[in-house]
Amino acid sequence: MTAPYAVHFSTRQTPQCQPIPGSVQVPNSAGGYAFAVDDWTRLDRFLVLGSEGGSYYADEQKLTIENARAVQRCLAADGTRAVRRIVEISESGRAPKNDSAVFVLAIAAGASDPATQAAALAALPRVCRIGTHLFQFVQYVRAFRGWGRALRRAIGAWYTGHGPRELAYQLCKYQQRGGWSHRDLLRLAHLRIGRGLPTERALAWAAGKLDGTALPASADDPLEPIHAFERVKRATTVAEVARLIREYGVVRECVPTRWLGEAEVWESLLERMPLGAMVRNLGTMTRLGLLTPGSAALRSVTESLADPQRVRRARLHPVVVLLALRTYAAGRGERGRQVWSPAPQVIDALDRAFYLAFGGIVPAGKRWLLGVDVSGSMGCAAGGTPLSCCEAATAMALVTVRVEPECTVCAFADGMRPLPINRHMRLGDALRLTRDVNFGGTDCALPMFYALERGLAVDAFVVLTDSETWAGHVHPVQALRRYRERTGIGACLIVVAMASNGFSIADPNDAGMMDVIGFDTAVPQLMSDFVRDTPGAGPPADEPLIL
Ligand code: CA
Repeated sequence: MTAPYAVHFSTRQTPQCQPIPGSVQVPNSAGGYAFAVDDWTRLDRFLVLGSEGGSYYADEQKLTIENARAVQRCLAADGTRAVRRIVEISESGRAPKNDSAVFVLAIAAGASDPATQAAALAALPRVCRIGTHLFQFVQYVRAFRGWGRALRRAIGAWYTGHGPRELAYQLCKYQQRGGWSHRDLLRLAHLRIGRGLPTERALAWAAGKLDGTALPASADDPLEPIHAFERVKRATTVAEVARLIREYGVVRECVPTRWLGEAEVWESLLERMPLGAMVRNLGTMTRLGLLTPGSAALRSVTESLADPQRVRRARLHPVVVLLALRTYAAGRGERGRQVWSPAPQVIDALDRAFYLAFGGIVPAGKRWLLGVDVSGSMGCAAGGTPLSCCEAATAMALVTVRVEPECTVCAFADGMRPLPINRHMRLGDALRLTRDVNFGGTDCALPMFYALERGLAVDAFVVLTDSETWAGHVHPVQALRRYRERTGIGACLIVVAMASNGFSIADPNDAGMMDVIGFDTAVPQLMSDFVRDTPGAGPPADEPLIL
């Protein structure tokens, strides 16, 4: 009788609780083995997904520390490359939140290498584009360095680098955050402020050294935003507030709270409201009776959200739209105090805007099988949002379904089941299919076996997962290779990471496998391009398979 050695040691069939012999697999957090992603991939994951709220297997603190260590290794390996990457991801608007970019920039600003430090401080205005980001940066950076001349100069340059009108707008719109105000920062920056130039007068006003009511009122004066701000502050009637908003384009942040319950005020705000603010305030405007059928306000909202150019210019992130949609459709604000009856037209408009926010996508036109991981761990919050990883994964799957004509979608955990989503489905309905159904272990090899068992021809497997796979008797990459050998189709595998951990089920040494990041607006196009351009990747078939 032959000893069953191959049961214990095989490069072709290895239980997920053991590493594939000869591979570079590492233990994941769930007791299985997966591939480690390199530090640069981890930097990207952190920049896009953040670590807020942690993951199923790691709390926020642990996940943040792990990610920060990966950041430090990137900075040590090539500091300017890391800073370049922070700027790229932040400026592209690929991440739903800018917080991680600001945090990573603060780490870089405290790096021991002077060149890295200088690059980080030079990048400050590009990553911290609004006052809020600057306040965040100052809060973070104190954990990594002291106030030195270079940091003071960089903060000062943030202020003096803006044109006077933009600076005046920033100073009025973002007045404070986390206990910091512009006055504090200007003092810390030791910025010497004269009184002559418009920029200097704006800064003197922010520092509390110049009376805003004394500023000129003419429309061509660059300090007009400050002038308008001071007048709204002193206004005594709703009509006056509304008139000032219309005349000067005053933003919501500059309107005293006591006026924010007035429909007339919101109606005037809506005329020049930035898209991001519009999406966040749809519930309020509905509650105040603005967004009623046939109203000009409703038409303005639905037309704005349907305008691809406006959506793109505003860098409206699909996840932001998705969250707005979820809150709006629920008819209740996040703290539960405000309630409204959602208008179906607004829900439709948000539904469309979600896809517009990804920009145009050229389909690959291949045969796709998408597997959404619905195991217990995917019920955890995704990227610091109220969405579960699973809901976020379903939304990402829906984008591909909308673009690619030949898609099969399944949900998997211990077992597989079809996920009945289609391109005509509303986001809310699709997300309900995977909400609160998370249970069971994780076997990321199942999509490949499912296709084999049913004789499905698949060019591209997409697995949306946290890569904490452990429950299968064969690793996903082995299942994929088996699929390629059995069918002769050089299928590729795309892993969409839904958590900012350090693992992937994709083999980094196989050109037919790719790691991307859920929540990244660039991902649907990256996926379609990859699938179109990767015919028959992967190692050639060798001997026929047993089993
Ligand atoms: Ca899991």
